[in-house]
Amino acid sequence: MDEFSVIERFFTRPPTRNDVCVGVGDDAAVVNAPAGHQLVVTTDVLVAGVHFLESVDAHSVGYKSLAVNLSDLAAMGATPAWAVLGLVVPSVNVLWLERFSSGFFSLAERFDVDLVGGDTTRGPLTVAVQLGGWVPHGTALRRKGARKDDYVYVSGTLGDAALAMRNRDGALDLSTAEAAAAARRLDYPEPRVELGARLRPFASAAIDISDGLVADLGHLLRNSKVGAKILLEQLPLADAYKSRVGEIGWEPALSTGDDYELCFTAAPEHEFEIKALADELEVNVARIGAVIDGDEIIFLDPKGQRYEPRAHGYNHFAEE
Ligand code: ADP
Ligand code: MG
Repeated sequence: MDEFSVIERFFTRPPTRNDVCVGVGDDAAVVNAPAGHQLVVTTDVLVAGVHFLESVDAHSVGYKSLAVNLSDLAAMGATPAWAVLGLVVPSVNVLWLERFSSGFFSLAERFDVDLVGGDTTRGPLTVAVQLGGWVPHGTALRRKGARKDDYVYVSGTLGDAALAMRNRDGALDLSTAEAAAAARRLDYPEPRVELGARLRPFASAAIDISDGLVADLGHLLRNSKVGAKILLEQLPLADAYKSRVGEIGWEPALSTGDDYELCFTAAPEHEFEIKALADELEVNVARIGAVIDGDEIIFLDPKGQRYEPRAHGYNHFAEE
């Protein structure tokens, strides 16, 4: 099967959105920008052996390649609209492409995203997705904007992906059901797209947690030129994690990453609205601390003692 048949068979779907004028099949895509909106665009590259194991189901690779980008747009408060897919594969493996494409489109359909173009070449397995979306002019959520006394919030639960990885490595002893739930969170993270968009009126700053809370909250705070006090007791943990905190400690929730939850700040006066929004969307939103002056994150354990995280998050170019 040649390149064009691959594109035609696995990646050509008629546009479904009315703002997409030209999709796959021309030299480039043409998209209408809605009046009064700004384009928000992001890209994430997944490399086999670095971001995912070659043995993982291609369905999850397709899903996750879009999910991580959706998570970035969610953190900006943007509504996703279209994607471009750069795909590098070592050979045409019909089964792999079938699984990949169905994972990708399962999520694209759920969030009303059209795949409008891409590029397909041969080489070491790599998936680069670019995602565009819209935000009303001037309303994008930024990493800067957090202010002293704002509350710090996190969506969902933290550390599940880390638990799944440890379990896979044989370092943990999860039950079958716990292992399945954790693996699902690693392979099929839920991008908090609606939460992000609905937080635009309330959040003072936002970021998505891809490299762990310590690293990503750190980025938010540095950009906002403030610090934070975080209560470890308030971290939202899945039951499987909660019952093992004594054994595995706080690090999986703080430093491993791959959670794709939102971390955001908001003035205390919005607490009720945020809680109501969380209830409406049926998303867990936990208040984990508050913004303080300074430039550090102070973690307090349940006894009120200061806790110093061991690792500072995943960093591709960190020196060993
Ligand atoms: P060009 O030579 O102009 O780059 P290509 O032959 O690479 O065009 O691609 C043909 C069409 O297929 C273009 O519209 C391109 O955007 C689209 N395309 C190529 N690869 C993919 C892919 N993996 N997913 C979606 N669209 C793709
Ligand atoms: Mg091309």
